[in-house]
Amino acid sequence: MPPRLARLQEALRQANLDALALNPGASLTYLTGLHFHLMERPVVGLFTAAGEQALILPQLEAPKIAERSDLPAFFYGEDPAQWGKVFRQALHQLGLTAARIGVEPTRLRVLELRLLEAAAPQAEFLAADAVLADLRAVKDADEVAAMQHAVAVAQQALRTALADFRLGMTERELAARLVMALLQHGSAPELPFQPIVAAGPNAANPHATPTDRPIQEGDLLIIDWGASWHGYFSDLTRTFAIGSVEPELAHIVAVVAEANAAGRAAARPGRTAGEVDRAARAVIAAAGYAPYFTHRTGHGLGLDVHEPPFIFADNPAPLRAGMTFTVEPGIYLPGRGGARIEDDIVVTPNGARSLSDLPRDLQPLG
Ligand code: ZN
Ligand code: ZN
Repeated sequence: MPPRLARLQEALRQANLDALALNPGASLTYLTGLHFHLMERPVVGLFTAAGEQALILPQLEAPKIAERSDLPAFFYGEDPAQWGKVFRQALHQLGLTAARIGVEPTRLRVLELRLLEAAAPQAEFLAADAVLADLRAVKDADEVAAMQHAVAVAQQALRTALADFRLGMTERELAARLVMALLQHGSAPELPFQPIVAAGPNAANPHATPTDRPIQEGDLLIIDWGASWHGYFSDLTRTFAIGSVEPELAHIVAVVAEANAAGRAAARPGRTAGEVDRAARAVIAAAGYAPYFTHRTGHGLGLDVHEPPFIFADNPAPLRAGMTFTVEPGIYLPGRGGARIEDDIVVTPNGARSLSDLPRDLQPLG
């Protein structure tokens, strides 16, 4: 049995669940290696604590699993009236008609839940998001390799986009070049998010969208971008100086770089997610900018762009080798500018390693 399914079986038993029912999404991809989209027809993956699995899906998806003899399928045709019968067959065959079935409350739709409930009226449907988060948080070597590649693609794309940078180019123009470069360097078209390209006053907004304002001398420029590779994401941020910037703006970039380094250095097995946040935050507080670091230090990264572990001060979750997350402290001075430096790191047996290695100190542009 594949290691992920073996780990799932153990996790289901510990959570006192008989099975899992999943809609298309990161968790279903994690367990099957297959990508399905949410659509008007139901697609559900079933995984039992006894090690059985099955998919309920439309006949037209049959080619996708033609070579997966390990994945029994329950197909239905174009008539929605067949759905109920096929769901009953599947739940009956897997012995789940009176089972405790785990679901993802933020993902399973009413459409599928109603079909599952009708097919198994005695079953209980319980939140299993914590079980899945726990499984997915620790990455295996293949997953880390995919993320490392997603980081490499993102870094190459940024170098390509910046080679075309000219003073007076708008945030929107630079963002467009970056998107094109991401695709050219091999990112899957499903980017983790639209790049943030924010200069001058716009850089003081952590979630800025690119505008038509020309990027000009004296601006700090924040670029937050990522690539997608085999379903896994990268998510990076670097801050640049356009020409010469006023001394305090250069100073906040240096403070943020130091905070980023402190956060990365604090990550190791046995420490908590909260300790990583506090290490980065302490550097910014000591420099007198605590009120201007307005978000958490990072978030887990993998098949989702935001997933556990979340790196905030009070998170007691212990770090384990194989966990991957961002370290992205920032300082935002309203009306003037901002700085953020974001790396993707993987916890190793003795510490943590950054998957990204673009320079973090203030690089001049333009
Ligand atoms: Zn980011
Ligand atoms: Zn991020």
